[in-house]
Amino acid sequence: MIKDWRKNAGKDILPQEKSNVSSRKLQCYVEGVITMFKEEREQSQFEWSMLGDLNQGRPNLGPMTHVAVYRLMQFTLRDILIRDFGVEKADRAFFDAGKLAGQHYYKNVLPEQKDLRDFFVDIQRTMKELNIGIFRVEVADFEKGSFVVTVEEDLDCSGIPLCSEQICTYDEGFIAGLLQAYSGKDYLVKEIDCWGSGARICRFTVVPK
Ligand SMILES: [Zn+2]
Repeated sequence: MIKDWRKNAGKDILPQEKSNVSSRKLQCYVEGVITMFKEEREQSQFEWSMLGDLNQGRPNLGPMTHVAVYRLMQFTLRDILIRDFGVEKADRAFFDAGKLAGQHYYKNVLPEQKDLRDFFVDIQRTMKELNIGIFRVEVADFEKGSFVVTVEEDLDCSGIPLCSEQICTYDEGFIAGLLQAYSGKDYLVKEIDCWGSGARICRFTVVPK
């Protein structure tokens, strides 16, 4: 069982989060409104509750959508970021967003656990349950804290046209964010095989920074 992330995504999480937010944000909660995207910021203001109450919002359509729709949003956003800011900044934005997602996924989806093996098992199980991909740890050096992990049927790239590129920058950040949230340490995560570059699997090297 994954944590009830749908519940966490809804309004039920607000009272619990009140204790952690700044007084300005607390004021927003008191008014029943949170700031989302129309306010300048130097630090992330993302909160899981922003994902909304899907039971209330989509009583007929439910929480699922087509993978093509997810990719349509992600690929067009990335295309425009590259056009306006260049490949390097767009890549950094995707990595950082993935990392932030991994950190929040750790807090809101994964059960609490101390053991690294259980941590990987929970990642595998929840990523499958949420149809993100089939996650495996291929090589593990627990002493050094370095790993090779793979994702099959990856949400971001499986089935895309051959482009000679490893494109899963968001996934790199996501894995780095999960590990950072678990261990408190930064990791260098690099995709070395991707559906885009001709492999049938995404493969990532993970080493402590
Ligand atoms: Zn990939």
